[in-house]
Amino acid sequence: MIEATNNGASILEMIHRSTGDLATLHLASIVSHDTGHIAQFYETDEFLLKSLSEFIGAGLKGGEAAIVVATRAHRAGLEERLREFGLDVAGARASGQYIPLDATEMLATFMVAESPEPQSFAALFGDIIAQAARWRRVRIFGEMVALLWADGNYDAALRLEGLWNKLQETHNFLLCCAYPMRGFDTEALTTPLADVCAEHAHVIPAESYTALTSPIDRFREIIQLQQKARLLEAEIAEHQRTADAFRAVKDELEIQVEDLRRLHDMSVRLTSTLDIESVLQEVLRAALAVQGTSLGLLSLCDPVRDGLMLKTSSGFGQEFLNRVAWVPPGGGACGICYQQRRRIVIEDVEVDPIFEAYRAEARLAGFRACHSTPLITRGGTIIGVLSVHFRLPHRPYERETRLMDIYAQMAADFIENARLHHQVQQELEAREQLLVWEHRARAEAERANRMKDQFLTVAAHELRTPLTTLMGQAQLFQRRAEREGHLTERDHRTLRVINDQVARLNKLVLALLDVSRLVCPDEPLVIDGDELRLEQVVQNLIQNALKYSWAPEPIRVTVTPQAGHGCVVVQDWGIGIPRDELPNLFKRFYRAKNVERQHISGMGIGLCVVKEIITLHGGTVEVDSAEGVGSTFTVRLPRAEDCTTG
Ligand code: ADP
Repeated sequence: MIEATNNGASILEMIHRSTGDLATLHLASIVSHDTGHIAQFYETDEFLLKSLSEFIGAGLKGGEAAIVVATRAHRAGLEERLREFGLDVAGARASGQYIPLDATEMLATFMVAESPEPQSFAALFGDIIAQAARWRRVRIFGEMVALLWADGNYDAALRLEGLWNKLQETHNFLLCCAYPMRGFDTEALTTPLADVCAEHAHVIPAESYTALTSPIDRFREIIQLQQKARLLEAEIAEHQRTADAFRAVKDELEIQVEDLRRLHDMSVRLTSTLDIESVLQEVLRAALAVQGTSLGLLSLCDPVRDGLMLKTSSGFGQEFLNRVAWVPPGGGACGICYQQRRRIVIEDVEVDPIFEAYRAEARLAGFRACHSTPLITRGGTIIGVLSVHFRLPHRPYERETRLMDIYAQMAADFIENARLHHQVQQELEAREQLLVWEHRARAEAERANRMKDQFLTVAAHELRTPLTTLMGQAQLFQRRAEREGHLTERDHRTLRVINDQVARLNKLVLALLDVSRLVCPDEPLVIDGDELRLEQVVQNLIQNALKYSWAPEPIRVTVTPQAGHGCVVVQDWGIGIPRDELPNLFKRFYRAKNVERQHISGMGIGLCVVKEIITLHGGTVEVDSAEGVGSTFTVRLPRAEDCTTG
């Protein structure tokens, strides 16, 4: 904006008076006054230097003093131009007519805590002006305000302008301050710019305006500037609207981010537990937090009869809770929600006809509005209803209902998961229990089997004694009768029958013994070896098993065909062998300490012989045993080739 002057010469007058050169246009008009405070705005340094050199050059030529408080670059540019005008810059400086000063250095002398200190300023420039006062007039060019402005220290710049004005009350000088237009390129600086203008008696616009020499052109420019200003104002208004819209979107986004954070929070909490009770409490807590209320109920479908069972609640007294402990389909907001599988919103229980029958209860419980959302799983099954209540009438915002729907969906899935987990857990426990029972049953069966073996062994032993006697006596009798010849043919037949049947009985008893002691392989197992020696091996092992275990505890002998060899295992559940003695067991005369302790007689050569025979047959013998548990001797012998294949 162009400011009218306080010295009688308006900008308009200046324009009318102007002819010729651009920079001199205004300055020339203003310098006709003795004092004044001019603000020169500029867009390029080029323009500033031209304007400045003409302002200072004209002064020096006219016998006036010139004080230039500028940057080093501007001072150099100015002096170069003054010399081009044919001025003796060095002479003028020497005579004190031209006083160049560094703007930064000058500022440093009176700035205190980012602000110009009035007394120091007045003292400093009062003296300098007094020195120059012997010349016809004093012109000052100052750039210190521009430096403060460039630093963003607008207050200090304005204060300094004020100090210059104050100094003009006591000293005569013409002052020109220069501001680059780039220092005012944001909308926020509109008011400070007006303040700067207000501090100056004359304001000279930057070159894009002052370059125009004809008044007509200048009017055109003003009109164009006015139009631009209007356009800019419209643009600013549009920007403002966009900024408002943007802010609204930002607010909405912030709300959404907050909602997402809550959702995330809830899902983190929910995933950290599979306990149904905790899941339900967490779901209700999160729903209440988002609605900003403390009243709520969470009910799940009753597995036995159609209806809802209250599972968890918040903020209600026991009397009300008892009333809603079980809700039939269609009962109240949550019953209708359950029945119709859709959200039910009662904005004001005192008004809504749905709630007519429950108003007294609502008053008792202290709520005026209620909002029920069905909990429907991903699979489409309704599993319950989540209700939140408000102490005052309440219409849910779109955001609330949207969030409640998401919460309800998540809650339904989490509850379903927790239930499934619970179910799986129960099944696992049941299976584990079954396994334990199975183990027990097997152990029981094995024990019964062992008892059966024991019984058979004992029975066979008991039967064999009288049977052997019977058989011996019958044979003796038959032989004597044959020798003495006094039996009839019929008696002989009878005797043969007796002998045959006794022999048969003996075989049966032997078979019984075999069954109790041996488990025979299904396929024939043929070993190529010394029959007597191998019999001795088996005999030794069986004798030891019997000797070192307690009757009637059975022993088990198994013969199994394996790839390439036959395997004979003799196992007992007797006194066992200390583990650390196992490596020495097959040594000659070695006997374990525990058998010695228990005074079980023996020589300690049986196993040594076993090992010898088996090794000579190309086989191996191993023992596995633990003291007090029993022993297992395993003999492996190579199978006869032809027999295994045929
Ligand atoms: P003996 O039985 O005459 O002492 P063996 O050479 O047959 O001699 O056995 C050597 C030792 O091995 C035994 O003294 C005993 O300590 C141990 N032994 C062998 N078989 C068994 C077994 N079935 N149970 C416990 N110890 C055994």
